[in-house]
Formats: sequence, C-alpha cells, structure tokens
Amino acid sequence: MFDGEPKPLPTRAIWIGVQPVVMTLFPKTDFDFKHAEETLIVADEKHLVIAGRDRWLPGHMEAKGRLAMKTGIQQEYGTANAVYSFIQEQLGVRWLWPGEEDVIQGERISIAPMERRYHPQIRARSGMLVKTSLGDNKESEEELWARFQRVQLDSMDMTGGHGFGDWWEKYGAAHPDYFAAAPDGSRKAVKPSVSNTKLCASNPKVWQQWLEDISIRVRADPLLRVINVSPNDGYTSGHCTCANCLEWDHPEGEKVE
Ligand SMILES: [Zn+2]
Repeated sequence: MFDGEPKPLPTRAIWIGVQPVVMTLFPKTDFDFKHAEETLIVADEKHLVIAGRDRWLPGHMEAKGRLAMKTGIQQEYGTANAVYSFIQEQLGVRWLWPGEEDVIQGERISIAPMERRYHPQIRARSGMLVKTSLGDNKESEEELWARFQRVQLDSMDMTGGHGFGDWWEKYGAAHPDYFAAAPDGSRKAVKPSVSNTKLCASNPKVWQQWLEDISIRVRADPLLRVINVSPNDGYTSGHCTCANCLEWDHPEGEKVE
C-alpha cells in the first residue's frame, strides 16, 4: 500500500481517491465531481479507482455529538461512501444486521471494466436512524452498520424537537418576561416538564436573545447550517395571553379555553 503517487507506476493498482495520475490512466473519465456526495468507481483491465467528492473545513473536523465527540467530520464523504458501495456491490459483502457480516464466498475476485457514477437524491439521511448518527454512540455496531449502509455519512443536517427546551432554566429567573403570560398575568414554568414552558413570542427581547445565542453558536461552529426554532411542545395549553400576543390572533379564530 502506498500513500501518494508511487514511482514507478505499478502496472496494476487499486486507487482510493483521486490521485492526480488516475486522470492519465483514465483519460476519458471525468474526475471533476459536479454533484454533492458524488461517487465514482471506474475500472479497466489493470486499474481500479474508488473515489468520491470530499469536502471538509480544515480546523473544523471535530465537534461535540449528542453523546460522543465526532471526529474527522467532513461536509461530504464521497470517497468513504464509494468504498462501502464497492465492498457491498462488487465484493459481495452484506451487512444485514448490526454486528454481522455476510460474505458471499467466491473462488476469486474479478472486476469487469466498468464506470459507475452515482450521487444520492436524499442528502439528509442520518436522521432516518437518529440513534446511529455520527456522535451518538461512538462506533457502536449500530453506528458502523448505518455507515456501511451509507445513511450515516451524509451532507445535510436535520434537526427538530423543542427548540427552546433550555430557555426557562437559562433565563427564567432573570427574564420572566421572555415567557408566556397566563390569563392572570403571571409568567411561570410549566410543571412538571419545565422544558416545555412556552415563550412570549411577540416580545422583541426574545428575538434579540435568540439572535445573540445563535451568533455565538455560529461563530463556534462555522459548519452549522440548520438551526432549530421549533416551538416548545403542548399545543393545548400554555400559550401566551399577553395583549401583544393576543393581537396576533385572528379575531374570528376558534376560541380555546
Ligand atoms: Zn406574549
């Protein structure tokens, strides 16, 4: 195994990633990937290239995941996904269940000349199986299974759920005016799940606080693209009844007690 371009060039080789010399070995193949996460597997009688579009920000390849640190983070992982595709589709290795590897036995490995180019239609895939997403359980069998299926190393973040779940804890004491007013004018935490306390959404100080919080997060993580602003849950109770919030209601809307 070599890292970089071997000299002299081997007469037969498997190339992982686009080493510049592969462009002369495959002059008719376009190695300039145009699609996000694009993968390419190309072979002739002597050479095989397994490659894909990789994007990363040097200096920002680590982040805190939900349960574990995420390391080697990229914005796109084309080469890694191309390798998993090759192992599965050309070498007959199947990962039917986490922790299990099913290998279709053969006398020899042979790859016919081919060019297989692909890019996924769905770029946000890791949310399909949140428990197996990067940083949830560092390289558990389930995490690796999701990676081999090419649903883990994707290129678009998704987020959801209660976007303001920590607000009462952070701001309840100092800024009760950020939170929903009950009909008696009081602004209190929802019991027992304090994290569901709703906001006084018409209060410009809430917007300002949110902008300040998010600007800190964006500065700390330049890869942050998706920011969750889902309201806290529980649509049947706890909405703000201050005069400004009520002003936003349609005058003929259904009355909810
Ligand atoms: Zn209000």
